Amino acid sequence: MLRLLRQLTTAPKTPDHLDVVHEGVSYRVLLKRVSGAKRFTLRVRNATRDVVITLPKRGSLASAQDLAQRHAAWIAARLNRVPRAVPFVDGAAIPFKGEDFTIAHIERLRGGVEICASEKIFRASCSQEHLSRRLHDFLKKEAQTALEAAVREHCGSLGFAPRRVTVRDTTSRWGSCSASGALSFSWRLIMAPPFVLDYLAAHEVAHLVHMNHSDEFWAVTKKLAPMTDRAEAWLHAHGSSLHRYGATDEANLIKLK
Ligand SMILES: [Zn+2]
Repeated sequence: MLRLLRQLTTAPKTPDHLDVVHEGVSYRVLLKRVSGAKRFTLRVRNATRDVVITLPKRGSLASAQDLAQRHAAWIAARLNRVPRAVPFVDGAAIPFKGEDFTIAHIERLRGGVEICASEKIFRASCSQEHLSRRLHDFLKKEAQTALEAAVREHCGSLGFAPRRVTVRDTTSRWGSCSASGALSFSWRLIMAPPFVLDYLAAHEVAHLVHMNHSDEFWAVTKKLAPMTDRAEAWLHAHGSSLHRYGATDEANLIKLK
């Protein structure tokens, strides 16, 4: 009776992940229950460097575990093909406005990140534990400044007042324009060459005129950003690699002894 009561009170809740083991290495698989899903899906996401199983509303946890275990070798192979993470640590090479900069860390209690453009160095004065956070904050701020300037310019060309710009860490889109005209972008664009960031700003500003991807929309975008085609090609070829900076491989890979 007590056991039954306990079972009832601790109603089965989908855990947020499960682990599968392949050749002595444990891989974390995130679980997402999607009420509209018709079947189980398993995928490895390059941008977020993780593995996800989506479960239908009534899909059992045992089936998810079975699916993950049957594909353990595939998961391992796919994760090993994801470009290696480049964490924000001393000596790491990080692209900034399309050029390679090196992180030079100076152990200090307080300070911040300074940029030495001539030496292509990010001089970061902070404690070791804050280094990654400081670099993230610094790059986000730089992205915000650059995107605000680009948006202001493109808005000016079209006769609009400047729009508010929000910078996030998005994985599926580089920029977006809401129905109310709020623009948001991935901070990672600050790592790309300036013509790519400029193009994204132009693209989202052009959505203030056309909320679609019609020929008219592209005509406005290309007028604002003549390098649109080159920027699209750059994003296609290199965009996903921007997600490896500041990431760590350890998050989803736990080595078993
Ligand atoms: Zn668009």
